[in-house]
Amino acid sequence: MKPHITKEQFDELSKDEKEKPYKYSSNSKDIKIKEEEKVDFLKYYVKPHKKISREVEKNDLYIVLKDLHIMYNLCFTQRGKFGGAMAVAHSQINDKDPLRFFITKDKKIVINPIITRHTNHTVDSLEGCLSFPDNSMIVVQRWNKCEVKYFTLDKDGNKLVEVFEKLNGTEAKVFQHELEHLDGSAIYEF
Ligand SMILES: [Zn+2]
Repeated sequence: MKPHITKEQFDELSKDEKEKPYKYSSNSKDIKIKEEEKVDFLKYYVKPHKKISREVEKNDLYIVLKDLHIMYNLCFTQRGKFGGAMAVAHSQINDKDPLRFFITKDKKIVINPIITRHTNHTVDSLEGCLSFPDNSMIVVQRWNKCEVKYFTLDKDGNKLVEVFEKLNGTEAKVFQHELEHLDGSAIYEF
């Protein structure tokens, strides 16, 4: 079974098929995510909400594999004045049972992320958010450097692999922005 199916195709699967872990052959770093131009991915955005995303567990991996396709394509889908997003968090497309993961436009799959260390002072960061396409970009405060821990998928897509990274600049800012989404908040008051 291909991991990258449409939501409609997924809904038609039997319960057994839905619970089977997906398989794919490539390394998770260059996971084959289908870029579909004809699909209206914008319809998957949900209204901003304050629900805190729950940790991804092994039984949730099929949801990660199903939804990362949508989330990845949203990184390249224009909404309002934004041409796309640096990353999309699961809570931006799921307001019922959002999971703690996001995907970046570089195809980095970031699951159950935490910041383990960060610099003491913050820097200005000019940001917008695709969940608020009508809002102007604003300056928020971000740590310029942080050390993070998260999980990604192994090459078969059915195991979580721990990752440690030192981030700075844009990558660090994006990580903090997405972490806020997972914690039920955003750069704007809503
Ligand atoms: Zn955002």
